[in-house]
Amino acid sequence: MLEIGFSFQEGMAVGLFVAIMLFESLFPFRKQLGRWRHFGKNALFAAINSGVTGLATAGMNIWLFIWMEENGIGLLNLWEIPFWAAALVASLSFDMWLYWWHRLNHVAPFLWRFHQVHHNDTTMDMSTALRFHPGEIVLSSIINVVVIVVLGVSIEMMVVYKLIFNVNVLFHHSNVVLSDRWDRWYRFFLVSPNMHRVHHSRRMVETNSNYASGLALWDRLFGSYRERDPDEIVFGLEYDRSEDEQKWLYLLKRPFRPKGRPASKRD
Ligand SMILES: [Zn+2]
Ligand SMILES: [Zn+2]
Repeated sequence: MLEIGFSFQEGMAVGLFVAIMLFESLFPFRKQLGRWRHFGKNALFAAINSGVTGLATAGMNIWLFIWMEENGIGLLNLWEIPFWAAALVASLSFDMWLYWWHRLNHVAPFLWRFHQVHHNDTTMDMSTALRFHPGEIVLSSIINVVVIVVLGVSIEMMVVYKLIFNVNVLFHHSNVVLSDRWDRWYRFFLVSPNMHRVHHSRRMVETNSNYASGLALWDRLFGSYRERDPDEIVFGLEYDRSEDEQKWLYLLKRPFRPKGRPASKRD
């Protein structure tokens, strides 16, 4: 049963991944030079992340979910509530948790060392959604396991939540153009491309806004919501803008290097 769940999820994910990629080709938000090189570089992070940490924690997670279910572990198992209600509470709670964890990644200097690798991408497309330093993935995997156990999230809930969440994350990073009207409709509920583009802006005040990844509501609720004309946004950070600073090995070593200085002050 578990295996069917995972292969179905994987099949859906691959299909949607290809569909978004096709949309990027047909309706690009910005013209891209060296698209496939950029894609390959970012995908290498995803390969490492799923190969090294992903497989290890996925195997562990299955045992963890079985143990939780058999022993009735977690807050959601304290009450007798219907599955749909528990799934709703679990998804909302976990999504809000991810908002705060992401926000913490921006304010805690140690966490930012790793998270900046997601932000120093001077081009933004769906492959940016794959660009996370393995250090960040290890840290977030460990802490997410703790949250899952405390909440008592079941494997079925997590599979559904993760599928919707991952597709949405790929979509709002994508280089797909969406009219302002459609984008507004979309971000009424979920984080849209134009909303997340602000989060990838070179301007620090904009980088430190729009932290949500699933539901858009958290930024409005916790005062971090920002809007800007997406055509005016320059992606990346104030530093790490040169070609050398975009090389894969540089990115891998980035967390262990000194804090970046604004490009303008270095020139
Ligand atoms: Zn961020
Ligand atoms: Zn992002």
